[in-house]
Amino acid sequence: MTAATNEFTFSTAVFWQQRVCAGCGDPGSEAHHVVLRSHGGEHHIDCGLLLCNKCHRGFHDGQYDIQKDIGKGLLEWPEKVAYVHEVLGDRADSYLLRYYRIEAP
Ligand SMILES: [Zn+2]
Ligand SMILES: [Zn+2]
Repeated sequence: MTAATNEFTFSTAVFWQQRVCAGCGDPGSEAHHVVLRSHGGEHHIDCGLLLCNKCHRGFHDGQYDIQKDIGKGLLEWPEKVAYVHEVLGDRADSYLLRYYRIEAP
């Protein structure tokens, strides 16, 4: 499955692809949009990163360490990093730094 069209199929696809939280490695339960919905992220499998409830909340609360750990997890999914670049173009590097604490190479 490469595309998902609604929240439910999106979450299900992301769960079956990843199983564990990208931040801490615990069993994952929530599909996070790598490119936030407010930034144009879609219900696409490449936009989905599986997180546990704790990491997901920490990410959206802007907790530095959690965002950094999730950033490390994100780097293990090249197609998801590529999705960020595809959607955000020039803004991708500053976005990745701001939300995932990933330094541009
Ligand atoms: Zn977690
Ligand atoms: Zn989220």
